[in-house]
Amino acid sequence: MTLRTQQWLEADRNTVFHASTPLGQYARGELNGRIVTGAEGIRIKDSEGNELIDAFAGLYCVNIGYGRVEMAEALYQQARKLAYYHTYVGHSHEALIELSRRILAKAPAGMSKVYYGLSGSDANETQIKLVWYYNNVLGRPEKKKIIARERGYHGSSVAAGSLTGLPLFHAHFDLPMERIHHTVAPYYYRREDSTMSEQAFSRWCADQLEQKILAEGPDTVAAMIAEPVLGTGGIVPPPAGYWSEIRKVLDQYDILLIADEVVCGFGRLGAEFGSMYYDMRPDLMTIAKGLTSAYQPLSGAIVGEKVWKILEQGTDDWGAIGHGYTYSGHPMGAAAALCNLDIIEREGLVANAESTGAHLQQRMRDTFAGHPLVGECRGIGLLAALEFAADPASRTPLDPALKVGPRIAAACLQQGLIARAMPHGDILGFAPPLVVTPDDIDDIVARTAKAVNRVTDELVRSGEW
Ligand code: PMP
Repeated sequence: MTLRTQQWLEADRNTVFHASTPLGQYARGELNGRIVTGAEGIRIKDSEGNELIDAFAGLYCVNIGYGRVEMAEALYQQARKLAYYHTYVGHSHEALIELSRRILAKAPAGMSKVYYGLSGSDANETQIKLVWYYNNVLGRPEKKKIIARERGYHGSSVAAGSLTGLPLFHAHFDLPMERIHHTVAPYYYRREDSTMSEQAFSRWCADQLEQKILAEGPDTVAAMIAEPVLGTGGIVPPPAGYWSEIRKVLDQYDILLIADEVVCGFGRLGAEFGSMYYDMRPDLMTIAKGLTSAYQPLSGAIVGEKVWKILEQGTDDWGAIGHGYTYSGHPMGAAAALCNLDIIEREGLVANAESTGAHLQQRMRDTFAGHPLVGECRGIGLLAALEFAADPASRTPLDPALKVGPRIAAACLQQGLIARAMPHGDILGFAPPLVVTPDDIDDIVARTAKAVNRVTDELVRSGEW
């Protein structure tokens, strides 16, 4: 390691509190960080001179790829013209008005307004407050519970972290908070009854949801929140028929649906939104990540007409809505989003996610079907996962102590490739920028195959598996 990198890492250890990091190990130098010095296209560079293919687009967000000069220009112009003004009591600006028009034009029919934040977490906090306010206006103060799903990911703040259905985000933080409950994940691969068809499993999931609603009392359940495709919980597309079965249950008990489109929105699945791809018909939608391709922090809570009318009614009676962030509708975020949408449209990136995504899924299946360590190869569009198993035939999971997922991710890094060891289970995730080409995909899959085979050999040779 160069002296410069060592110095940077030491200064970093002494001053920076890192997200999702084993703090003690990192502080003691038992875990090495990486100093990222630049990025271009689908590659990042580090202070050691390594160039890595980023097959996870940062955290599934840099959809237009890195280093877009056009974006730098748009941000420069916006900073010169209007770097900041707030959106309280009706203040607005040109970029925000144009952006809201374009988002609503892309969104499913019936979406009415966009409330802006800075992160997926804060947008989901907004959604929870809106759902509670909505039921207060309607004179249903008991109807406040929100049902999320096991393995769902919705953020890591207090309420959004409670919606998240991963133990790591709850344990030792005294979460989830009250009023937030979890139903089963539509995780067909991990079904208990191997004879069950996808349709039957979807009906079982809807039945589990209904049981939960009945157990809590339908008059106490306000909303369900869900990602169209489970993301951080393992990249799990829903089984056939899942969304129509779930929608039926929600309609029956007058429960709102919040589609968390933070990962799926703006093209990742090869459709504008996951809600459209699966015909979810949500009442509210959460957007972030792909809205600006992470060139600026920006998120949104999109409110459908049905909820919007009630919010208006509430403020007529009670005064201005008591919800506002200093940076809501920030001009720099709006300018980044507009430039991002221009690039997505001009370069046809949603269509690319569909066609190059189909190539990714095919190449993954061709390469890994029948591999002794690969239990399932799944995905949709430019979102894919390999789930490793001790015995693929019986779907027996690996011993977590073997840390096969993280070891394969580390082996990928040695091949110059960033793929993500998902935080729960031995699952390797892929979500490359939407600008990837079929050749890039071939390269990504070839590097992954080398890494998977290397770890497989290691496990066999050491007798660990
Ligand atoms: N929702 C989903 C579906 C996400 O994947 C994420 C982030 N990975 C969030 C919400 C939270 O977003 P943020 O990290 O910007 O708070």
